[in-house]
Amino acid sequence: MKASKMLAPTLREVPAEAEIISHKLMLRAGMMRKVASGVYTYLPLAWRSIRKIEQIIREEMDAKGGQELLMPAVQPAEIWQESGRWGVYGAELWRVKDRNGRDFCLGPTHEELISVTVRGDVRSYKQLPLLLYQIQTKYRDERRPRFGLMRSREFIMKDLYSFDIDEAGLSESYDKMYDAYSRVFTRCGLNFRPVEADTGAIGGKGSHEFMALAEAGESAILYCDTCDYAATDEIAGRDPLPVTLEEMLPIEKVDTPDCGTVEDVAKFLNVPASRIVKTMYYQADGELVIVLIRGDRRINEIKLQGLLGCNELALADNAEIEQNGSKVGYLGPVGVENIKILADAEVPLMFNVIVGANDGERHLLNVNFQRGDFRIDQTADLRYLEEGEQCPHCGGHLKLARGIEVGQIFKLRTKYSESLHVNYTAEDGAEHPMVMGCYGIGVGRTLAAVIEQSHDSDGIIWPVAVAPYHVVIIPVNDREQELVDTANKLYDEISAAGLEAVLDDRGERAGVKFKDADLIGYPVRITVGAKSLARGCVEVKIRKTGEMQEIPVGDVTAWLKDFVRQSLANG
Ligand code: ATP
Ligand code: MG
Repeated sequence: MKASKMLAPTLREVPAEAEIISHKLMLRAGMMRKVASGVYTYLPLAWRSIRKIEQIIREEMDAKGGQELLMPAVQPAEIWQESGRWGVYGAELWRVKDRNGRDFCLGPTHEELISVTVRGDVRSYKQLPLLLYQIQTKYRDERRPRFGLMRSREFIMKDLYSFDIDEAGLSESYDKMYDAYSRVFTRCGLNFRPVEADTGAIGGKGSHEFMALAEAGESAILYCDTCDYAATDEIAGRDPLPVTLEEMLPIEKVDTPDCGTVEDVAKFLNVPASRIVKTMYYQADGELVIVLIRGDRRINEIKLQGLLGCNELALADNAEIEQNGSKVGYLGPVGVENIKILADAEVPLMFNVIVGANDGERHLLNVNFQRGDFRIDQTADLRYLEEGEQCPHCGGHLKLARGIEVGQIFKLRTKYSESLHVNYTAEDGAEHPMVMGCYGIGVGRTLAAVIEQSHDSDGIIWPVAVAPYHVVIIPVNDREQELVDTANKLYDEISAAGLEAVLDDRGERAGVKFKDADLIGYPVRITVGAKSLARGCVEVKIRKTGEMQEIPVGDVTAWLKDFVRQSLANG
């Protein structure tokens, strides 16, 4: 490619629309442009990288026996009504009508469509297992599209669906995908971790999210510094640690003026927050419930909602809580009647705790559940684990990291095969629902995650496997014929060797070309300058390490071939 003809409109200024580094750099490197909120055009450089990621995905899916197909983005409402999701998917589902007023949606995902595809043509156990995938454009009318390709409303996803005869088959398909995903993200050069993830309404064990570790990530992950435990903070949990028995002391009511928070009470009474039990009132589908939790812990509302099985959950408003005389900040469970009391699993094990007294600005000391001082209707793990806590699997300690969810794999089991009647006939003639799994990779988000992890103040640093081009060749002066001729010759030779080169023939100053080369992030820069050429050499710079060396013109192509081969092998 000749840079003079390449559509790569680089920018010197940081565009105001971008918040995170990958978005800024993709705009600045002339890789993408915004069309509408969360809707983008991929310019040629981005598209080349995206196609490489897609190719890596294809190779790894095919290696596991995946078969590629392509389903439409436009899906009839009927199949979503059949699965029951038309009513519950909410505003994120991009609904459209045709000229006759019939309802359709632009697919956010394809469980329904793949299910009706398979049910029409697959009948026998002999045809299973099946692994079907596509790389296709998805639509989600996200509440807050942001961060460029990270959370957009139109985006490219690889989605694979597995169909098996039983749970054991599903486990095999799942393990294959787990392995394939690990290989895909390794080949893309990402620093990632598979983490145990929430299975939401489907429940049971059986989902992992693949998290690219990055500060800009929207997810929090807890991982062990000793073993391979890792989970999203949404689901990470552990049994309470054993406690030391204490003598239960008599309850005392004390004044705690102006102590509306756990920190205030702890300071005022000179005790650690871990001796206090917080009393929180929630509204769950219109019903008031109390949740008790240790003073230094945070309630995990995802776990709470899962336990209650409610659709809507929010903290109750103060007026409602205070209608029978108590004051927010001084609430407690002692003497409470007619309201369901849930407690995090640590609470019933605690001795001599401090709780609000439900009586002005006062607290109670030495309250003991084990003496029957208050009631608990249900106990469960309802909290977030914190950094530094003991790992649920070993004696190690948990660390907290932020991650970008680049992929997720999920055991659907028979959720869709039952509602959409995707059945097979077993060897004995009996009909059973197929056992399904689904597996997604965000292609654009993966690209953004690579940049998020691999850049410096000058621009992108592409891993060779997903770089738009391998090398840029820069003649430092386009008016010196010898330099131009050498650059052209190298460009032809390198291209003929099957490597991907850009020749920067734009007639710009060398400084401008160098800046753009760093910004766009070519893994290798070859500079053709008079000084080295006098020695028969060119200067070769590796973007990732900054390492520079002079290489004789005649050896450059062989060197580059070797460099690319080695980089691809090492990920
Ligand atoms: P998130 O929790 O980030 O909204 P999700 O869990 O809803 O994502 P999945 O349904 O698991 O997403 O989709 C599979 C993959 O598609 C995700 O792992 C992610 O890489 C990608 N993806 C999902 N939503 C978006 C989006 N709005 N923009 C870009 N990529 C997305
Ligand atoms: Mg997901």
